[in-house]
Amino acid sequence: MTPRQPARATTRPIRIRRIRVAGLLVAIAAFAAALGHQSLASSSPAAASPIDVLRNELRGLRREHRGALGEDDGAVPDGTTVFDAQVPGVANLDPALLDALRQAAADAADGGVEFFVDSGWRSPEYQERLLREAVSKYGSQEEAARWVATPDTSAHVSGAAVDIGPSDAAAWLSEHGAEHGMCQTYGNEPWHFELRPDAVDRGCPPMYADPTHDPRMQR
Ligand SMILES: [Zn+2]
Repeated sequence: MTPRQPARATTRPIRIRRIRVAGLLVAIAAFAAALGHQSLASSSPAAASPIDVLRNELRGLRREHRGALGEDDGAVPDGTTVFDAQVPGVANLDPALLDALRQAAADAADGGVEFFVDSGWRSPEYQERLLREAVSKYGSQEEAARWVATPDTSAHVSGAAVDIGPSDAAAWLSEHGAEHGMCQTYGNEPWHFELRPDAVDRGCPPMYADPTHDPRMQR
């Protein structure tokens, strides 16, 4: 590869990485299933598919090993799409927002742009942790507030906001989302979108420079 190769050439290694990650997860899942087979067999409902059983087992392992917050609190695994209804961070989004987002994603896919969900719905506990991390990263509550809302004010906690990646997908949604009622909310967060049904007819409202300018954050 030469340094001047077009950006398009970078999609291939990323895809390979995703496939490797998927392969690794399958291997981990098989190992977990072998470990937990006895207890699972007695506790799982007969209707659960093998994939659901493995997913639940993986969630249990994450919780146990990290002692922290996992998918059930809104942590979203790499490679999650807006169509992954089994991921709580996606499934717990406002149904109207999710519907609009999926229509937009289908539109974007027609143009060769693929959406991934970097973050969607979050539990209050998860939001609180993100806020604590932001305060430690940015050094003050005031600076952290430019990036991370409190559990009481975050649109992620109410299921009313989604963070879309990678950047070409976010750029596509910022440009074309209004047709579906999806609008970028903050100038400093090109990935953060909320549902604004009026945008279908009137276009998106002006963005706030950052969340500290958003009246909803003044609670
Ligand atoms: Zn966001």
